[in-house]
Amino acid sequence: MPQHAQNTRVCRDCDGFAAVAITAGTRHPDGTRVTLIVACPTCKGTGHTAPAADLARAGR
Ligand SMILES: [Zn+2]
Repeated sequence: MPQHAQNTRVCRDCDGFAAVAITAGTRHPDGTRVTLIVACPTCKGTGHTAPAADLARAGR
């Protein structure tokens, strides 16, 4: 792996973009776009590789 900041372990799956808003292509009656927020299943929307349980363990 090339040199990278190890303190912040960014999720490999989503590259840190855990929650992605997808434009559905349709619009609400008020003119705003309909967007779907999809959270990364790997990091569960945190953007980091370590889930909350791992972070808690590392804190001990
Ligand atoms: Zn992720």
